[in-house]
Amino acid sequence: MPPISQTKKSSKTKQCDLTKRLLAWYDIHRRVLPWRDPKGKRADPYRIWLSEIMLQQTTVQAVGSYYRKFLALWPDVKALAGAKQDDVLAAWAGLGYYARARNLHATAKIVANEMSGKFPLTAQSLRALPGVGGYTAGAISAIAYDEKQAAMDANAERVIARLYAVETPMPKAKVELHALCSALVPERAGDFAQALMDLGSAICTSRRPACPNCPWMSDCKARKRGIQELLPVKAPKMVRPLRRGAAFVALDKSGAVLLVKRPEKGLLASMLEPPLGPWEENFPSSARALKQAPFDATWKKRPGIVRHGFTHFELEIEVYMAEVANHPKLICHSQPSACGKRSTRGEGNPGVKHRPGSKDLDSLPSVRETRASPGMTRWVNTDDLRKVALPTVMRKIVEHALDTGGLLFSLRKP
Ligand code: SF4
Repeated sequence: MPPISQTKKSSKTKQCDLTKRLLAWYDIHRRVLPWRDPKGKRADPYRIWLSEIMLQQTTVQAVGSYYRKFLALWPDVKALAGAKQDDVLAAWAGLGYYARARNLHATAKIVANEMSGKFPLTAQSLRALPGVGGYTAGAISAIAYDEKQAAMDANAERVIARLYAVETPMPKAKVELHALCSALVPERAGDFAQALMDLGSAICTSRRPACPNCPWMSDCKARKRGIQELLPVKAPKMVRPLRRGAAFVALDKSGAVLLVKRPEKGLLASMLEPPLGPWEENFPSSARALKQAPFDATWKKRPGIVRHGFTHFELEIEVYMAEVANHPKLICHSQPSACGKRSTRGEGNPGVKHRPGSKDLDSLPSVRETRASPGMTRWVNTDDLRKVALPTVMRKIVEHALDTGGLLFSLRKP
């Protein structure tokens, strides 16, 4: 048996060899991404941070146009810190997981106002910023500063689990995978992190990994055992509860839709939505749904339902639509998901009178205020819906009501 010092040395040599091969592969095959600087150029921490927050739970394809839009609107952290939260939420609309947008804005204010516009230099200090968890901190510090950090996103976890044939189920395996990856991180920590992401995205894919093209093929333990597609072992899927409710889309003569601002805390905080009834186990009957409507009108139920998956539950919505000649003076709106209370018309927030020609509350075009806090309402022209903070599920509801065949938002990319 070889002495321990010799075993350690050969393991270190092996790790160096793995790292070298991966970096050599990356130097040839690195992806061109909007937030990735050309080879040899030092990355801008603001851009790296912005892209990493957007990439949390979101694909590279979905993020590209949003990243470019944010950079055009707010080219540096001070500009973003000076933006209105409503404008940040509106620019984020459609990207999902909206707490990220609020954390993004909060972090920009901290960095701009309390750190002289400079992001912290280490993963540990980055973690103190809102919305920056272990992976994001590691990725930013590795890519922006070459700090020797393992940036373990789902791609990296998959590759490392296969390389070492780790059969511990996720998420329990995370600590082990992080330790194995940390041992590989070289001086070129940023390139290594991005190489691992690229390898997981292009070669070591969830299904049918292209092992013959992989720089680690000769060392991959999972491949040697033929179990690569079985790893990483996933935790059993949680059954998410189903909630159901009704939504009310009112359209005026000018083509504007009534929207309400959600509460500042909780699910989809501060975003806009058409008035909604409570979310419960079953759909309300038509008679009951009409009692939940924001005002009296000829509400017609659209055929079909809208489905949307949130992290912890599934939502199904029946959509009622009404065309109105004038803006109703009294608008009542319940916000079921914000407080869990059942609130129907007459029990909800009292409305106030429409004030024609009143000034917009922010810089967004063609947005007319009709009621102030709580649950501020606006009539937003359909042409401007993509410019306001309307989350994906609410976009689906409006699309369904207006029967636009998915064209209202998808034809005009942000
Ligand atoms: S050899 Fe195959 S399974 Fe192993 S790391 Fe490479 S692509 Fe993944």
